[in-house]
Amino acid sequence: MMNIPLLDLRAQYENIREEIDAAVMGVVHSGRFILGPEGEALEREIAAFCGAEHAVGVANGTDALLLTLRALGVGPGDEVITTPFTFFASAETIAALGAVPVFADIDPLTLNMDITELERLITPRTKAIVAVHIFGQMLDMERLLACADAHGLAVIEDAAQAIGAARSGRRAGSWGRAGAFSFFPTKNLGAYGDGGMVVTNDGALAAELRVLRFHGCRTKYYHEEIGYNSRLDEIQAAVLRVKLRFLPRWNEARRRVAGIYDAALADLAAAGRLTLPGREAGGEPVYHLYVLRTPERERLAAGLRERGVASAVYYPVPLHLQKAFASLGYRAGDLPRAEQACAEALAIPCYPELTPDLLERVIAAVRDYV
Ligand SMILES: *Cc1c(COP(=O)(O)O)cnc(C)c1O
Repeated sequence: MMNIPLLDLRAQYENIREEIDAAVMGVVHSGRFILGPEGEALEREIAAFCGAEHAVGVANGTDALLLTLRALGVGPGDEVITTPFTFFASAETIAALGAVPVFADIDPLTLNMDITELERLITPRTKAIVAVHIFGQMLDMERLLACADAHGLAVIEDAAQAIGAARSGRRAGSWGRAGAFSFFPTKNLGAYGDGGMVVTNDGALAAELRVLRFHGCRTKYYHEEIGYNSRLDEIQAAVLRVKLRFLPRWNEARRRVAGIYDAALADLAAAGRLTLPGREAGGEPVYHLYVLRTPERERLAAGLRERGVASAVYYPVPLHLQKAFASLGYRAGDLPRAEQACAEALAIPCYPELTPDLLERVIAAVRDYV
């Protein structure tokens, strides 16, 4: 019996093989590999998809955050508020610029940053908020922006896990000053290597990002500032343009899978044996991951493994307790809801190519354990 992976990129490729192969070979034959027509077309298409005016391709999602924070002037002496329950890059980029990440505890239902924590954490040094839509669940951006606007703070959406997610018909990335996306292969829209993009309605910010990604150059070999080498290459852009056409269907399929899990496991949740992913009210999630919670996570993971079902822990250590952030001075117990989520969360397979048979097997394996 076939093992069920957390994500099946080979099955995805089988479904789109001809288009992908043609797109990749088209770039190879064109002889243009960095900053060319595929990247420009992808920027227009992603901007349109997100409902933003501009999009700037960069080398990865981490750089999308880093260059945006830098372009907004974040640096030494500034504080930037974010969540401790996310991938490291959400806060690493703040610290890389010499600013201080300040962590807000999370909402135990949605696992997103608890917006009611913000008022308490804002100081005269607070410059921005990195708003992470974790696992593809969009934060309540109306409430977040109301708070940020009242204090004059820039909001950068870390939408690495949320491409296509929406609220009130408006997509992730288009709400803040800028939205950062990652095209890491396992993301909902994944390249065949690294890639990233920033979307924004701020034309001056987009122009600055184009300068920063290309060594601080506006005119080749005339460097106005210290920048980066952070570009999205043409082969990745060509692959992403093919996949973008399928993304709405794939996100819909992820929602369908999540809905089937929700229904099939509802009785266990009602009996207090498991916690199912909470939903942000009014949001249209894209289930980058479907994350269960149970204090008996290790036993559940072992039971799934025995039955050939993959699972993975997102995330084992909250960012405030990471060794790299020891100098920030946080201690265990400071952000108890994030710490509990890190002790209990387990992602189970959730991807568009999960057939009804495979889904049944995952559900049976979870129920067996419980
Ligand atoms: C993947 C991810 C990133 C970083 O993206 P890379 O392309 O891997 O650099 C940042 N934030 C979150 C929430 C992510 O999931």
